[in-house]
Amino acid sequence: MTVSGSQYLLQVKNLKKHYASKSGFLSRVKPVVKAVDGIDLDIRKGEILGLVGESGCGKSTLGRSILRLIEPTSGNVVFEGRDILSCNREEMRLLRKEMQIIFQDSGAALNPRITIGEIIGAPLDIFGLAKEEEKERRIIELLELVGLNKDYVNRFPHEFSGGQKQRIGIARAIAVQPKLIVCDEPVSALDVSVRAQILNLMKKLKNQFELTYLFISHDLSVVHHLCDRIAVMYLGKIVEIADRDELYRNPSHPYTKTLLSAIPNLDPESKRERIVLEGDVPNPSSPPSGCHFHTRCPYRMERCSVDAPSLQRIGDHHSVSCHLFDDQH
Ligand code: SF4
Repeated sequence: MTVSGSQYLLQVKNLKKHYASKSGFLSRVKPVVKAVDGIDLDIRKGEILGLVGESGCGKSTLGRSILRLIEPTSGNVVFEGRDILSCNREEMRLLRKEMQIIFQDSGAALNPRITIGEIIGAPLDIFGLAKEEEKERRIIELLELVGLNKDYVNRFPHEFSGGQKQRIGIARAIAVQPKLIVCDEPVSALDVSVRAQILNLMKKLKNQFELTYLFISHDLSVVHHLCDRIAVMYLGKIVEIADRDELYRNPSHPYTKTLLSAIPNLDPESKRERIVLEGDVPNPSSPPSGCHFHTRCPYRMERCSVDAPSLQRIGDHHSVSCHLFDDQH
């Protein structure tokens, strides 16, 4: 599958990642967990697309499937016009230079036995980008770019705070000058004060190096100032996607409304009320029939438990998957 002259850096088509569930050991039919269940998503060059949803909705699996860190079950992932799911191992190895990831648990993602200079220098070695003095110069440059003192180069990961470790993870990701970075909950484990610093750093680097981010978060307040567009995910599916301001001004899917209502509101004039959802996210190995959200939805109708809604356009750059909008367009 080839798309030429596209404004999109990445196009995801009907992507699925299904797992055979471990439970069901004694039963004949093993339940299938549809962690990612037919996702369509486009990311423009230079854009930050936020991907938001509760823990367990499949957003990290989607991010990793896009990078083939997890092998998708089916679908297409078209990067710069090329379907990477048909790439062989060597082609994929070369593509890794263009597509990097920043993890939530920066500490666990850093090898504790090597210095941060070696950690940041490793991708330069792997892709043969710099050697000896040039490599040392580049490592120092990267440390300074992410706001770390160059004298830290021979220190080990355990000598750094959570925020500093995340800066090291960012330096490693940008070392190879990638085009796309999947940011998998990069600030979720950090204190609020440090969070803002890391988000500002990520925005600065994005502008400086014309990066494109898929920014995964469970928290709509985190993605608010950073993202250009936001996709909301529930049980393996995108339920709403819109430009950032449109989504915050006019949230349309009941699930998005609920997530937004959980953000503390400092505006005394605002009439926004907190909506509390019933229950937890259902078990993805046996999702509710029809609309997966119907068991928790305050607006559910009879047909919601029978018919699965599909994503439909309700405005410029705004689509939603909900029967409440069926007769309006
Ligand atoms: Fe709620 Fe029905 Fe819309 Fe699903 S389709 S979100 S259950 S109103």
